[in-house]
Amino acid sequence: MIIAFSGGKGGTGKSTVSTNITVLLESFALVDLDVEAPDDHILLSTELVKVKDVNLFQPVFNHEACFACGRCVDACHDNAIISGRDGKPILIPELCGGCRGCKLVCPSREAIGEGKRLVGKIYENLTPYGFPLITGELLEGEKKTYKVLLETRKYALSRYSDLIFDTAAGAGNSIFKALENVDLVVTVTEPTPFGVRDLQKILEVTKQLERKTVVVINRSGTGNESIVENLCNKYGVKVVGRIPYSKNIIKGYFENEPIVTTSLPEAEIFKNLKDRILEEACR
Ligand code: SF4
Ligand code: SF4
Repeated sequence: MIIAFSGGKGGTGKSTVSTNITVLLESFALVDLDVEAPDDHILLSTELVKVKDVNLFQPVFNHEACFACGRCVDACHDNAIISGRDGKPILIPELCGGCRGCKLVCPSREAIGEGKRLVGKIYENLTPYGFPLITGELLEGEKKTYKVLLETRKYALSRYSDLIFDTAAGAGNSIFKALENVDLVVTVTEPTPFGVRDLQKILEVTKQLERKTVVVINRSGTGNESIVENLCNKYGVKVVGRIPYSKNIIKGYFENEPIVTTSLPEAEIFKNLKDRILEEACR
């Protein structure tokens, strides 16, 4: 079973909710797919342990075997190859997207060799709460979010069957891939105009993907929840939980202590939420 926590808007508390729910579920592995800024390991006070590099193909030109035909220059949609004065290719590595187009069109068998560029890393470690955490991380300055996300997702699926995905905020292409074939999408939002605007974007994504979706209202009681409810009614999705604005939850966030490991009353809210989410995922 795969349950994904998502949210159109950043800062809605998605990671706080997903880490607490995973602690309660016990038998699931948590996958941090927010590869540009993974933070679940911080919330769970755990050190990252690298298990895999994520590399992109990068051509290595052998000018001895090159016919200076220019086909690789024309084939590169990223404009990562320019022709030198002798008509032979020069690579601008930062622009190369690793599509292999140049190698495919090259008429010389020897002119383009296999090179690679490190764009990200995948980590796996056991958390202090007994479940595995898999984390994808895009290297600083790199832009291949999609590639790192895909590789992290693939790695997690090859290792475990019960997974919690913690995705990035937003509703871009990488979110489509992160939510593909998941059993349930839990969208965490807040009752503000920005929260509702971005909730609509993510509900459009899950509608197009035809994924079962539920909504959790975080910081409940701080805004107008009827606008969230009206939007949910429009898309036919249920509000399965409301987490009140709570100093205890914020304190737990800053102290990296999941609230569900305490005896505070807020822990009970998460326990009820976990039951509702499982109920919906199994429905
Ligand atoms: S691999 Fe693709 S992006 Fe990179 S240089 Fe070749 S054609 Fe351009
Ligand atoms: S396509 Fe191959 S042979 Fe032609 S310029 Fe590029 S590297 Fe040289």
